[in-house]
Amino acid sequence: MNGRCVITVGDLGEFGIVARIAGRLPQGRTVLLGPGDDAAMVGAPDGRVVVTTDLLIENRHFRLDWSSAYDIGRKAAAQNLSDVVAMGADPTGIVVGLGLPAATAAGWLDDLADGFRDECDLVGASVVGGDITRCDLVVIGVTALGDLGGRPPVTRAGARPGDVVAVAGRLGHAAAGLALLQADRAGGAGPDDPNPELTALVDAHRRPRPPYPCGAQAAELGATAMLDVSDGLLQDLGHVADASGVGIVLDPAAFAVPAGLETAARLLGADPLEWVLTGGEDHALAATFPGGVRLPPVWTEIGRVTEGKGVEVEGRTSEHGGWDHFRA
Ligand SMILES: [Mg+2]
Repeated sequence: MNGRCVITVGDLGEFGIVARIAGRLPQGRTVLLGPGDDAAMVGAPDGRVVVTTDLLIENRHFRLDWSSAYDIGRKAAAQNLSDVVAMGADPTGIVVGLGLPAATAAGWLDDLADGFRDECDLVGASVVGGDITRCDLVVIGVTALGDLGGRPPVTRAGARPGDVVAVAGRLGHAAAGLALLQADRAGGAGPDDPNPELTALVDAHRRPRPPYPCGAQAAELGATAMLDVSDGLLQDLGHVADASGVGIVLDPAAFAVPAGLETAARLLGADPLEWVLTGGEDHALAATFPGGVRLPPVWTEIGRVTEGKGVEVEGRTSEHGGWDHFRA
């Protein structure tokens, strides 16, 4: 690269890479045997293991010119850890499968590993193993494990008429950040006028902040159904409605639209409520609770569960989570 000496993953070879990455990954209390053997061993005190996996592909799920390696690692870990948390479980470990071009700088891989490590550290989990292979594009497969700690799993299928619907975490921030990047307005009005409200939204796209402690908390509060919002609130709550055989009525007035979203929407001529209702990738938690439950302030009540089907906002129902039904 430009005549400079950059060590690439091709120079290191598979064993060199594995040794280099393993040295950056401390093993936490859940790990009985870490990387280096044929397989790792992770404690499962509950006796039941929660497991989930996600595959991310360059230019489809992330862009190397929009996100750093560190941010990609954080985000890839976060979306899997969030799925574990959305079952009411505590994440314990992740394994990572990587496809990387041989010309990838070793430092890029270091940063990716550090991103995985730091996101896992937020929930007391560890990167316990993985595999790496040569590939034309960057491909990242993550599998996450979790332990229920004696709690019942919170599925999508338990919502009952009379329950309240509540969310914890951010909605619409990542979608607004992505829209700013796509419009080349990530810095605000221009490079001489960076707007911290807007850069915070772009950061939200690059690095979600799932409300991790709220998953087990919801399970302990008796949540009847839960998921993390990865595809958009309307669509994801539609999954709860379908799986539970109920309807969900949302109150748009319950959604406080933050000033940053209003600013971004004015700049782009967009509707901030559309980002809130249909934007994915913030990995907020959405859950239903028995009516009359007293929720801690991190949870915002946004609606209720009814007999019926689909998700209804202001008298209009969408069974497919599309915004067009509501905007008409
Ligand atoms: Mg999910």
